[in-house]
Amino acid sequence: MRKLELHWQILIGMLLGLVFGFAMTYPDWGREFVQDWINPFGTIFVKLLKLIAIPLILASLVKGISDLKDISKFRRIGLRTISIYVVTTVVAITIGLLLVNVLKPGDGISEETITKLTETYATDTAVTSKLEEASRQRQRPLGFLEDMVPDNAIKALSENKLMLQVIFFTIFLGISMLLIGEERAKPLKNFFDSLNFVVLKMVDLIMLTAPFAVFALLANVVVSSGDPDLLIALLRYAGVVVLGLFLLVVFYAVVVGSYTKKNPFWFLKQISPAQLLAFSTSSSAATLPVTMERVEEHIGVDKEVSSFVLPVGATINMDGTSLYQGVAAVFIAQALAFDLTLGDQLTIVLTALLASIGSAAVPGAGMVMLVIVLESIGFPADKLAIGLALIFAVDRPLDMCRTVINVTGDATVSMVVAKSVGKLGEPKVEDWDDYYEEVK
Ligand code: ASP
Repeated sequence: MRKLELHWQILIGMLLGLVFGFAMTYPDWGREFVQDWINPFGTIFVKLLKLIAIPLILASLVKGISDLKDISKFRRIGLRTISIYVVTTVVAITIGLLLVNVLKPGDGISEETITKLTETYATDTAVTSKLEEASRQRQRPLGFLEDMVPDNAIKALSENKLMLQVIFFTIFLGISMLLIGEERAKPLKNFFDSLNFVVLKMVDLIMLTAPFAVFALLANVVVSSGDPDLLIALLRYAGVVVLGLFLLVVFYAVVVGSYTKKNPFWFLKQISPAQLLAFSTSSSAATLPVTMERVEEHIGVDKEVSSFVLPVGATINMDGTSLYQGVAAVFIAQALAFDLTLGDQLTIVLTALLASIGSAAVPGAGMVMLVIVLESIGFPADKLAIGLALIFAVDRPLDMCRTVINVTGDATVSMVVAKSVGKLGEPKVEDWDDYYEEVK
């Protein structure tokens, strides 16, 4: 296995996991076997990645900022990042809306299928829990700003969900370190530099197990998926989402090729292990450590840029999710004969933009925020559960695909921002065993 490139190893693991999962749907004991004996290895892998996410953000962002030597540079990077994120998200939603309006997947869905989907899922706890979560998340206008500022640094650092709070605290710390002068900041800077190396080594070590972990994750996805007939009924809708996501990849490739002058295929190859993990875990937050490692070491984006752009992107930039929200909202409206005006569609652009910023980078989060998008266009509250039931059967596979795009979008923007400030260099790959001889 050792000589095969990492992305091939992961891909083989995924394929074997799919085949194994399918085989296990036949024997009576198969599902339980996968859930009890195989899935835990996937869960452990995801936990390991999440375990290092906060130390990595902390160490790498402090290093990134304290290497800057000039705060105005940070402002420039920050403003560019946020503006480009907004632009890519609007492009994503627009592609989604154009496709769903032209291809009209919702018109082809029969009354019978709607009834069947409603009966199967409308009262399912998985769907009702999304509605409950959405009602908890209903935003106050400046809520996201308020939530971004922690009142307890230790508490923020102890909770993966509070990534924006961690970023806020770390930027505050890094800038203050710049302001006390190099000499006085040195001990702290050395500490974070060293921590940064250690955590990146941890990523390398965890990735050694990735091919086995994705086997477990995908086998579990297959045995937990719903009725295949219902999946097929939703094929046109799923096809529109996947087509949109594919067009987004083309968009990123064009941006990378034309602006950064790097070969887009090379870019996609370098980032592919992160994409495959995004697909297998459905979580851009869990994938973040790998995305950071690939972008810095294998693409050559300087840490000054990647350490800010990527963690922020994982939390607020979700192009795949926003495209999906646009398509899903209009699909549900089409299927349930709810007329949408042009104004409604523009409202979708705006709320899907905000919703993708507000979506957590975890599996299924996009569907929670979809409720808020639907409400913004006046979709009747009593039909929300039916609306979600219509798309629930294919949500997991689509979540896997949109997470790949979320991660690819962040990586693309990090290259663009790096290029724009002259910080896109050459790759400098570190392997897990670079210093192994010394400690063997
Ligand atoms: N699973 C996605 C992510 O982590 C969010 C979503 O679309 O549900 O990026």
